[in-house]
Amino acid sequence: MEHQHRGASHAVYSELNFTPGNKWVKSLTQGRLGTMLGGHYSSINLSSVLFHERIDDLVHVKLQVWSAPNLTKPSFSEAMKQEFKPTQKGDSFGPSSYSNIASGIPSSWAKYERVQFEFDPGCEAMVFRTDGTPVQGITGGYGGDRRVEYIIPEEARKRGFHEFVIEQTCNGMFGVPLTGDTIDPPALDRYYQLASADLVVPNQEAWHLMWDFFTLKQLSETLPGNTPLQNKALVVANAIMNTFSKEDVKSIPSARKLVEEIFGEAWFKKAENIYKEGDTRAKIYAIGHCHIDTAWLWPYSATQQKVARSWSTQIDLMERYPEHRFVCSSAQQYKWLEQLYPLLFERVKEKIVSGQFHPVGGQWLESDGNMPSGEAFVRQFVLGQRYFQTRFGIRCGAFLPLFGELLIKNMQIKETAWLPDSFGLNGALPQLIRGAGMKYFFTQKLSWNNINTFPHSTFNWVGIDSTQVLCHMTPVDTYTAQATVADVMKGVSNHKNLESSSTALLVFGNGDGGGGPLAPMLENLRRIRATGNNNREIPLVNMGGSVDDFFHDLEEDTNAGLTIPTWRGELYLEFHRGTYTSHGSIKKGNRKSEILLREIEHLATIASLYDKEKYAYPQRQIDDLWENVLLNQFHDVLPGSAIGMVYEDAEQIYAYVKKEGEELLENAMRILIPKSTSVSMTQPLQSAVSGKIVAYNTTPFRYSAVVEVPLQGVGGNLLKAEIVQISQHGNSGFVLMDASIACGPAVPRGIFADMQPTSAKEIYKDVFVLQNSKIKLTITDGRITSLVDTQQRRELIPTGKTGGLIIYDDRPNYWDAWDVEIHHLETPHVLRFTTISVAEKGPVRASLVGQLRYGKSTIKITMSLDAIAATLDVNSNSFIRFDAEVDWHERHKFLKFELPVNIHNEDAVYEAPFGYVKRPTHKNTSLDLAKFEVCAHKYADLSEYGYGVAILSESKYGFSTRGNIMAISLLRAATAPDAEQDQGKHQFSWAVYPHKGSFLESDVPMAAYVFNSPLRVRFVADDQKKPMSLPQTPFSLTGASNVVLDTIKRGDDDDPQETDWKKGSSTVILRLYEAFGGHASVRINIASNLGVSKATITNLLEEDMETLEINKIVPDSSSEQQSYIDVNFRGFQVMTIKLVISSVTWDWTRRSRLGDWMII
Ligand SMILES: [Zn+2]
Repeated sequence: MEHQHRGASHAVYSELNFTPGNKWVKSLTQGRLGTMLGGHYSSINLSSVLFHERIDDLVHVKLQVWSAPNLTKPSFSEAMKQEFKPTQKGDSFGPSSYSNIASGIPSSWAKYERVQFEFDPGCEAMVFRTDGTPVQGITGGYGGDRRVEYIIPEEARKRGFHEFVIEQTCNGMFGVPLTGDTIDPPALDRYYQLASADLVVPNQEAWHLMWDFFTLKQLSETLPGNTPLQNKALVVANAIMNTFSKEDVKSIPSARKLVEEIFGEAWFKKAENIYKEGDTRAKIYAIGHCHIDTAWLWPYSATQQKVARSWSTQIDLMERYPEHRFVCSSAQQYKWLEQLYPLLFERVKEKIVSGQFHPVGGQWLESDGNMPSGEAFVRQFVLGQRYFQTRFGIRCGAFLPLFGELLIKNMQIKETAWLPDSFGLNGALPQLIRGAGMKYFFTQKLSWNNINTFPHSTFNWVGIDSTQVLCHMTPVDTYTAQATVADVMKGVSNHKNLESSSTALLVFGNGDGGGGPLAPMLENLRRIRATGNNNREIPLVNMGGSVDDFFHDLEEDTNAGLTIPTWRGELYLEFHRGTYTSHGSIKKGNRKSEILLREIEHLATIASLYDKEKYAYPQRQIDDLWENVLLNQFHDVLPGSAIGMVYEDAEQIYAYVKKEGEELLENAMRILIPKSTSVSMTQPLQSAVSGKIVAYNTTPFRYSAVVEVPLQGVGGNLLKAEIVQISQHGNSGFVLMDASIACGPAVPRGIFADMQPTSAKEIYKDVFVLQNSKIKLTITDGRITSLVDTQQRRELIPTGKTGGLIIYDDRPNYWDAWDVEIHHLETPHVLRFTTISVAEKGPVRASLVGQLRYGKSTIKITMSLDAIAATLDVNSNSFIRFDAEVDWHERHKFLKFELPVNIHNEDAVYEAPFGYVKRPTHKNTSLDLAKFEVCAHKYADLSEYGYGVAILSESKYGFSTRGNIMAISLLRAATAPDAEQDQGKHQFSWAVYPHKGSFLESDVPMAAYVFNSPLRVRFVADDQKKPMSLPQTPFSLTGASNVVLDTIKRGDDDDPQETDWKKGSSTVILRLYEAFGGHASVRINIASNLGVSKATITNLLEEDMETLEINKIVPDSSSEQQSYIDVNFRGFQVMTIKLVISSVTWDWTRRSRLGDWMII
């Protein structure tokens, strides 16, 4: 075909024309571009000239290998002590091995500018120097993440010899799936074949031509429509094909010269300076990134290696591409690097100081966005920020002069919170992000919505308390962009707020399993920018800046957010709704650990104030436990979407937290209640000396509780004096505990006059009734047929309806452990108890036990009603408690408890971190119907005028309300990526709580809080002459019942060993929040035994923001001064208050009238 598109620019327009002059067939020319590399013509096309030299003989490449036994992954230094054996290309390795490589470089190669070692083990690997310094990662195989070349250092090339070590981990970027399906469970004994171990000399000019050609091909294929640039790129690419000849070495530079028509004259020499040309304001901010899931299709131990591999690779790239900037979140990953790869950690530090490596996010790790408690989110930020601050002298949001003034200039100040992959984001986050010193937020997961398209790219995200952060949800719809022309174009074409701002963030680099940017991506971006400098059809790409630079520009562009839309409340992900339920034991481990840590901090604080000589606040141990809990909150661990191995690790972590945590609790208890021992159903009393039962109510609420204690063991008889009901089997008894002091001691009490005696009976055949004077539950033929509030004369179950367990078929369209799809609701299988018996008859606790079999599973539910109300609130009611024991052996089934109720409201209320969210009970719009399964913490409530019903939960997070049917999701049974998810035994509890008044008038949040914090009963021997006095928490709230005193702890900067109160380094931190969504004026009372010299409102990082007035009152002349602080809240506000303690006096003989003590 004779084309005259190019050349002959000085030809004269001739009078005669004898050529055929056909128009080109564009599609054929486009198709032709695919033959420039590889394929049928690889022996003659560009592929044939990519290397000048290649040798793999045993003379030049000496390989020795040592394979680690079993599934171990030994460190470099351990491996170096082993005996290595000769090996060669083609051999198989596994499951983990090290290769020692000695290469002799031929002297004839001295003329070349670069020699590489090409190592393709088919899996992930890492190159080390012989001193153990990680140099870079290797990703074998032929995927888009392939990176098999290691550039031999110049001095070694000149010397003609180089020795180094490569560790092969024998897993791919996405673990080791059994089949080709990524989310298949892993094959742990997989072996990999060494496909290449060659010394090569790349033909650099040919590689650059290849990258030139790639960019042109992308321009011709992905620019939308029929545009001049698209055609021009195709013409030039075609001309390159016509120019290139394998036989003619000069054809390569000639072909490269042709691209100047697109990239500009002498563009190549400009290298990274290409970004300094053209318009000053770029549209697309490109930033290198590597999303490493802290565990997912691989365990935590594999992630530790992924971090080292990926980050060393990026440092290597920074040396060669000065414009390269790399952003990485998660203090945990930095900490692993610090501990396991200290030499590499130092290199990372250098790059942080030089401003190329950017820590971001300020969190311990990228946690799940729904399920962690409010306080756990606080700790994600606090422990994350403290790590960045102590190691790098910077914090995401501020900096400290750890490295001196000059260097700080380079270091980016990070103000961006970073959760690109979490499965939905709760509405407390904007407030917590601000509280942690940041104001920008980057995410993208909502682009995965499977029903509605999220309407914004750049917007103000306003949380439930009205705090806003500037949010960017990249229009590129990914955090693993490949830096192609299509990615850059999408930054504009898919931008949903171009009317307000046309900038976008391009977050590029292989990810999920690590890797990060590759050299070809950086090459491509230079070419794309060069194109943009010469042609307005393509937006300008910026490199060398930071994510914060992007947000600063955005803030300016949008007139401080005034010209962009606002999204209020949670960012609900319309996908992955099964993750609130998958892996029940992990959810339970999370909740129990969060509660345990709250109790530890509370009691350890009081103990540290009470007896500073004998007791030091265990700050280091508490931080360690928090770090462990925060680790398991990773966004594929807590959601239940990781492989089985991850859950073995996670269970061990929770067992560790429980063991260590209970020990810390015990140490604090021994200070507060000397000589006491713990008593529980698994810990019978061993004492032979008579004594008393006591407990400590760590909640900020007043209530009574029925606690079961063992009557076996040496001390069983001693406990009988305290019990108000012996259990049916006689081995245990029930103690009625009076926890009427919020944050204070609790003691047993007798049956009281206004109690509502409870009973359980079979009134007719298969009709069972559980009732006290307030509530009556009827079970007929194995289903709940009636639930009556007898005082209100209100039947709550609609006529003809029943409540109870239900199973659905659960076969999501693909993401098994992640998704429950809306169609599961089309396959209900109603379950009935086949046997029911009376377990406890009352008068303090009455219980029915219902049992049934389904498939291979057995389910036993104990339903109990106590003779007391949930709390001491005047309107409080009793709740029905459900304690389940399930032996679960189903596959792809979904077990729920559903209760239809005579309540109507268009919205139901679900607890979220530091507050709640409302979601519709109807399906008016597609936005409404998308929320068919939602996340809640300790309660979900459906109320109307005058009355409501709540479901309380102590370890389940999946809920729904369809019309008037309330449901709590109990168990799932996915098979990918964990084939055994949720198989086996489970114990969990929930409660149904009918209450007078709507949710806003109720004590539901308090009831749920108390339901989650069972009293820990202790026995204290009666050997003291005087009455025992127990210290009370010296803080209490009055004036507003909607404010919760959630956390009491010692200040993070306190010195636990400091025993002199006067030094001013002793602080107590109180964290409070408003729980109902309204303003409040609350008084914080501080008991007289505590001298407080200063009180401030701080941010979450405990930095002073505002000084508070400390007021004193003298109740009468015989008492000491009590002090108080008044503070105001807006709805859902979280407040951190720091009190500087100047004196503590625990003299029980001079106790004040306001009850710093309880005498028993
Ligand atoms: Zn992820």
